Amino acid sequence: MRILVTNDDGIYSPGIAALAKAAQNFGEVRVVAPDVEQSSMGHAITATRPLSYKKSPIKFEGIEAYRVNGTPADCVALGTHLWEKTDVVLSGVNMGLNLGNSMWHSGTLAAAKQAVLLGVRGIALSTPAGKSEPDWKNLEPCILKVLSTLMTKEELFLMNVNFPRNPRGIMWTRQSVRLYDGKVIPGEDPMGRKHYWFTVAPLEAAEEGTDRWAVDNGYASITPLRLDLTNEAELVKALQKNPLETLNRT
Ligand code: MN
Repeated sequence: MRILVTNDDGIYSPGIAALAKAAQNFGEVRVVAPDVEQSSMGHAITATRPLSYKKSPIKFEGIEAYRVNGTPADCVALGTHLWEKTDVVLSGVNMGLNLGNSMWHSGTLAAAKQAVLLGVRGIALSTPAGKSEPDWKNLEPCILKVLSTLMTKEELFLMNVNFPRNPRGIMWTRQSVRLYDGKVIPGEDPMGRKHYWFTVAPLEAAEEGTDRWAVDNGYASITPLRLDLTNEAELVKALQKNPLETLNRT
């Protein structure tokens, strides 16, 4: 099995080293990741300048690694183009959770989505990072358990996985959809110029059975996702209320 490993924290993140190491248990691994951090870049692609693809001096034992001066989605597009017949793209392990509405901003998840757009399976993985680095040794058994559950299931095309600090189990979940508070925190740089930090915090408690609820309760969360954003119920209502012949009547 050919496994392409990428992330949005950049090729020098310890999270991608932990994931590449775990992935080696399941097949042939190649790392293709951004040369600098691309967190919260979402599904951006670089369309107005060329991209470079350089062998990385970073030491992944027995793994070829390349750095790209682009976004996570660029890395997947370029990586799968230059490595034919990639079976699955793993993205992460992100230092920061990607739960609920964070999925809209996440570069980690965007890499998995980009894989699916190209017909390749995509799995995004994230864990919280505060002042201290995640304890990768402690997380490793849970990462391996999740990967062995997901890697062989060909029907599971797009998956979003989040690990709490100390997982006490694994749950299948759905995405928590809640409004969030887009906080803007003003500050001043050392030259006295005004600047602003943008941050998001959920306004409401997590619903039971959701990704946020699972991680809040100490479980690793696996959410199966899809690319189709169509609101089926609204579409049915709209068609009943305004069928084509009504819409186009002059
Ligand atoms: Mn990140």
